[in-house]
Amino acid sequence: MNRTDVDIFISGGGIAGLAAAAAFAHHGLLVLLADPSPPPETAASNGSDLRSTAFLAPARELLESIGLWASVADHAEPLNTLRVIDCQGNPPEPRTDRTFQSTDLGAPSFGWNLPNWLTRKVLSDTLTNAPNVDLRLGVGFARIVTREREAIVTLTSGAQVRARLAIAADGRNSPLREASGIGCKTMRYGQKALAFVVAHQMPHENVSTELYLSGGAFTTVPLPDHEGQHCSAIVWMNDGTEAVRLAALEDDAFSDAATLRSCGVLGALRVVSSRNLWPIITQEADQLTSERVALIAEAAHVFPPIGAQGLNTSLRDVAILAKLGAQDKGAIGNKDFLASFAKARGRDIHRRAQFIDLYNRICRSDLPPVQDLRSAGLRLVHDLAPLRRRIMTAGMGR
Ligand SMILES: Cc1cc2nc3c(=O)[nH]c(=O)nc-3n(C[C@H](O)[C@H](O)[C@H](O)COP(=O)(O)OP(=O)(O)OC[C@H]3O[C@@H](n4cnc5c(N)ncnc54)[C@H](O)[C@@H]3O)c2cc1C
Repeated sequence: MNRTDVDIFISGGGIAGLAAAAAFAHHGLLVLLADPSPPPETAASNGSDLRSTAFLAPARELLESIGLWASVADHAEPLNTLRVIDCQGNPPEPRTDRTFQSTDLGAPSFGWNLPNWLTRKVLSDTLTNAPNVDLRLGVGFARIVTREREAIVTLTSGAQVRARLAIAADGRNSPLREASGIGCKTMRYGQKALAFVVAHQMPHENVSTELYLSGGAFTTVPLPDHEGQHCSAIVWMNDGTEAVRLAALEDDAFSDAATLRSCGVLGALRVVSSRNLWPIITQEADQLTSERVALIAEAAHVFPPIGAQGLNTSLRDVAILAKLGAQDKGAIGNKDFLASFAKARGRDIHRRAQFIDLYNRICRSDLPPVQDLRSAGLRLVHDLAPLRRRIMTAGMGR
């Protein structure tokens, strides 16, 4: 029989799954990772993930510690300033405008922004010939049988893998989570996010701007200049029907609508990519583990895209799992190991899910008292220095 023996099987080669593979391999463990969708070659390729992620300091430290940061560093754009604008009306007008500087905390940057498609491609290229990693791209997870001492996984190719631990990093609809009998609770808001890239008139000067208005946030995230043009990644949250209407507009009309919604903070915007639509949900798995199985990243938790928390929380899962593995290699996948992982991650994930859920409800509300509260809250958080520093420290993942 075609069966491979490894320490760790990983279902899913998104950024979190690839980082987990690198982390375990770095500690000398044998890893097999399977993903049916190989990373797209360019931003324009079919299926490219046009979102971008701000890697906060702990996420960068993880990638540095496992030797991956160097391979993405050249593409990373520092994020030094966060500007938050509370807007009102149609067309939207700013009513409270506050700026948060990373230097306020003595840090050069809040984070480093990288396009998702590029990070995934660079990480998978780096792992292709790495020792201890067997990367099976184009092949998916199909089935799992677990016993007290091992998990036997069958791939869609029919090949079998025997591992001490199977990690579900296969996204919000995780097939491995489902095969392990773990349910999840999902909160839907009727919102969708449009993710796309724009060229713009004015330089972004490494400022990320979040503009709040009923319907949801409009966020600009700095990208490196491309072909001599200033560029930013945009995440534009809206009620579902409005998001679908916007997604169907011609490029010129869409660019005009985006410029209006951005209150002109970067001058005229011109869309230079396709547009991806993402449903906005909060989702938590009922448990983070089952026999010989651990859930990480969106298989375990999905948050609305505010405050750069999603992938950063996922990379915290990876860091803890790899640390536990390095501490006691013999225990990998056993009951104590899995209980330690669930204990270390469960509370943090639940707390973040609750906070971001509440924050999203406040941000998108069209009730005037809630809008007033939103504006007053922004002024309070910014203008009281100790509170501002506390919130900034928590937002940076410390
Ligand atoms: C619009 C938007 C903007 C965001 N911006 C940020 C941000 O700025 N900062 C931040 O921290 N987070 C952000 N997030 C969240 C972040 O993008 C996600 O947390 C992250 O992409 C999820 O990573 P993942 O690896 O869990 O899942 P995915 O990227 O979905 O990867 C799952 C992988 O599993 C694979 N798979 C599926 N089926 C199988 C199978 N049968 N076998 C094996 N593999 C399989 C898929 O092909 C895929 O490659 C944002 C989210 C959204 C919606």
